[in-house]
Amino acid sequence: MPVHLSYKTPTRLLTPASGFLTGYSHTLNPYTGCAFACTYCYVREMPVAKFRGEPWGTWVDVKEQAAELLAKELRRERRKGPVSIFMSSATDPYQPIEYRLQLTRSLLAVMAGDDAWLPEGAMDIRPEFLLVQTRSPLVLRDIDWLQRIGSRVRVSVTLETDLEAVRRTFTPAAPPVHARLRVLRTLAEAGLDVQAAVSPVLPSSERFAETLAATGIRRVVVDDYIMGDGSRGRRSARLGLQPLYARLGCEEWYDPRAYRRVLDSLRRYFPEEGLFVSQAGFLP
Ligand code: SF4
Repeated sequence: MPVHLSYKTPTRLLTPASGFLTGYSHTLNPYTGCAFACTYCYVREMPVAKFRGEPWGTWVDVKEQAAELLAKELRRERRKGPVSIFMSSATDPYQPIEYRLQLTRSLLAVMAGDDAWLPEGAMDIRPEFLLVQTRSPLVLRDIDWLQRIGSRVRVSVTLETDLEAVRRTFTPAAPPVHARLRVLRTLAEAGLDVQAAVSPVLPSSERFAETLAATGIRRVVVDDYIMGDGSRGRRSARLGLQPLYARLGCEEWYDPRAYRRVLDSLRRYFPEEGLFVSQAGFLP
């Protein structure tokens, strides 16, 4: 699907966190809009997308001069107190355009304290904690910066199912299952704090938990439309997803109890302290 790009110079990048992301001081979205265009994306029902006049997934606004702005904002916010950042709440920071623009990469350099942004003797502007939420293998390009941020960063990789047919039905423009398993494995091997976000739970096979465990990760969060869309499922209900379950012959998975099915099988492969449900798994 062709994506219409616009270039904007925002007045701010850091947004005070609230609701589901209480626990962070800020959210950070390098882009507005998302070319992955997931069918279940709750942002479709938010004003930024709803009143845009273009279908979700067909437009992306690029935030220009973002690194300079972030450095300035971090200087200000760090003076006020601890800064913890969720990147990103309404876009994927590693959607396809990031390959060429390297905007997210430039923000990681700021948050890693690169010399260009943190000269010797200058105030430390690095956030205390950063969560990078993505479903894209492109995050592997930035392992160098992620390793420099070290124990202050967690990478959360969305993988809602191990069934490629299900992935194609719900998220046809998103990276395939095998690519995301590779991301989990590579980040774990790189010594980074990494989790799989089974979010939202989609129909999966009996082998899903075992497949996740085989990547070497030690942390998984399970979430669904009702707990995780910020409106107790109301936004997601308006997206009319039930026919997709019917098409796959998986209607029993369109059920508020479906997440427990996945959670129970994960318990056979992961210790209790590595398993989280909904909000708890996304907090710092
Ligand atoms: S990757 Fe995230 S932000 Fe982008 S469409 Fe999918 S759910 Fe929405």
